Amino acid sequence: MCCNFMSRSGTSTVLAAVLLLAAATAGADSGWYRQDAAIMGTAIHVEVYHEDAALAQRAIAVVLDEMHHIDRVMSPFRPDSELSRVNREAALGPVPVSPELARLIERALQVSELTTGAFDITFASIGYLYDYRDGKRPDAQTVQQALPAIDYHHVHVDQAAATVAFASRGVRIDLGGIAKGYAVEQSALLLRGMGIRHAMISAGGDTRVIGDRHGRPWLVGIRHPRDEHGILTRMPVQDEAVSTSGDYERFFDEDGVRYHHIIDPATGDSARSALSVTILGPDTTMTDALSTSLFVLGPQRGIALIDRLPEYEAVVVDARGGLHYSSGLAPHQP
Ligand code: AMP
Ligand code: MG
Repeated sequence: MCCNFMSRSGTSTVLAAVLLLAAATAGADSGWYRQDAAIMGTAIHVEVYHEDAALAQRAIAVVLDEMHHIDRVMSPFRPDSELSRVNREAALGPVPVSPELARLIERALQVSELTTGAFDITFASIGYLYDYRDGKRPDAQTVQQALPAIDYHHVHVDQAAATVAFASRGVRIDLGGIAKGYAVEQSALLLRGMGIRHAMISAGGDTRVIGDRHGRPWLVGIRHPRDEHGILTRMPVQDEAVSTSGDYERFFDEDGVRYHHIIDPATGDSARSALSVTILGPDTTMTDALSTSLFVLGPQRGIALIDRLPEYEAVVVDARGGLHYSSGLAPHQP
């Protein structure tokens, strides 16, 4: 899956959920360095511009190191991650964690408040029972029994002591709806600290662009949720975070019903009032969490929420394929 390469050749950048279409003119690629990798269970793409080739390559290495670090701390698939330890022990009492993990869990809880529980990292109390690759899902009785464990109020973070505790047994957390955006945002901070003024970092559906691309904005294309080569709409962006959540990322279909990786905390079942959601804004941690949130909230409640957040915009593809834009994107509507 990983194609680990470093090149200076100019190609358009194709992401799973969002297409960032590079303005590929002859000679415009001098000074740009790119690398692909597979980290955090997802496709990573980094593009950096700098006249100093050694600095640009160091910058890319710094980003990949940061992603490996976040994976080691937050992966639910590594038994030795801090997150796995929390899931094993936090129902028994406060578990010491790094201040970084405590802070990100706290931010996730704040998004839960903001979204009236649509975003809820305790979705994992049932989420772990799905296996999208093998087409497995919990039966209705199991879902009903486990449903009370989905409630972010069960999670207690003590920032000063850097501990996490669960108020109830059967609670599990998973940061899959926010950690990739956080990793991209942290990486962008590191790049800026190294003097990088033009770059693009993406982890799966979460992307941040720094600056522009040689005097032109980056072009974000929102892919068609049922045609991986089709583009629904394009928007120019500069110094912006963009996240897309879609029901085509990890799923299986059974009797005409799609079971996919975004879980409605109210039901323990996959959320089905949207096919994809794209969020634009200043902070990739938030665009990531909000794209997952709006997928659960659906177009009406979701757009109403975004219209209360002046720095964020949204494009929602509803269950019938209709497009919904937040008020700030009205000029981009086709
Ligand atoms: P994204 O692609 O950013 O929408 O993230 C999807 C991931 O978010 C899933 O694979 C889960 O790890 C996680 N997730 C699923 N449902 C929820 C939810 N209701 N609240 C928070 N995270 C969720
Ligand atoms: Mg997300």
